[in-house]
Amino acid sequence: MKAIQVSEPGNISVVEVEEPELAGSNEVKIRMRAMGICGSDMHILHGENPFASYPRIIGHEVAGEVMEVGDSVSRVGVGDKVVVEPMTSCGTCYACRQGRPNVCVNVEVYGVHREGGGREIMSIPDHLVHKVDDRLDWSEIALIEPFTIGAQSVYRGDVKEDDMVFIIGAGPIGLCCLKVAKEAGAKVAISDFNEERLAFAEKWGADFTVNPGEGSVVNQVLDWTEGMGANVVIDAVGLPQTVEQAIEVTSVAARVVLLGFHSSPSQIPQVDITKKELTICGSRLQTDRFPKVVELFNTLKFDVKDLVSHEFSINDTEKAFKLMESPPSSVRKVIIKL
Ligand SMILES: [Zn+2]
Ligand SMILES: [Zn+2]
Repeated sequence: MKAIQVSEPGNISVVEVEEPELAGSNEVKIRMRAMGICGSDMHILHGENPFASYPRIIGHEVAGEVMEVGDSVSRVGVGDKVVVEPMTSCGTCYACRQGRPNVCVNVEVYGVHREGGGREIMSIPDHLVHKVDDRLDWSEIALIEPFTIGAQSVYRGDVKEDDMVFIIGAGPIGLCCLKVAKEAGAKVAISDFNEERLAFAEKWGADFTVNPGEGSVVNQVLDWTEGMGANVVIDAVGLPQTVEQAIEVTSVAARVVLLGFHSSPSQIPQVDITKKELTICGSRLQTDRFPKVVELFNTLKFDVKDLVSHEFSINDTEKAFKLMESPPSSVRKVIIKL
């Protein structure tokens, strides 16, 4: 069977690998159908993901159809459409005991630390498989994982009805945060240098858009909030200067959610944090977000299909990754049909 493999940094291709067997009675064998390409896949391809080892079958935003189940599996059955929750944890470390397996000291992500879902068939323990409504199409189901990342950020920011939320960056993850925050009843502003992305964000319900190229972001957000500042800021860009900006635009008692992995320090005066009693937190992967996001998608009213801007067949994998290499502004989410 075919699989999408990064053999070493800089080299991606479709390779022939052996079809997996059910490794236990709790396993589910899935005929994979769609895989979203994520920024983190590009990092693996470029050798910039410290967690990845090579060769690696990538793919963590994946959807498929159950083709076989082990004897003890009752959550899903043959023919079900499913999304994969691509994360495992040890169950015993401090984070796991706190119900936060996403920051387990031994966390492993499928498609990063271990073989992912970018292949024709995969076998995986049943607790990592979530059944979805039959009427969702494959590309749509592959969007569920990035939406769990957005949902985690909104949860970490404790976004409430009528909160004024400012999201930095209107790439796929920023857009997922936008949609979930709107669903929670918040008012949302979003920033990006790219006007095409901002126009799309408006279409998706953004109440206010900010182009940092057109003047001070802080002033624009303060104007929008009539001087109050944003109650929640989600930084989906993660540069040292966006973190500084995130803290500067907050209201009193605000929450700041950081998603970036940048290792350079930001310069932040502590008085800004103390005076307003800010809560600053990170958001990584997700905890228990899959059932909630699946439920949202299953309503069929949560229509986010237009996040997908391009679809490729598995045979055109290299073309798809080439497009992602220097994506024109029309590129949002690229899906590979498996
Ligand atoms: Zn992703
Ligand atoms: Zn753990």
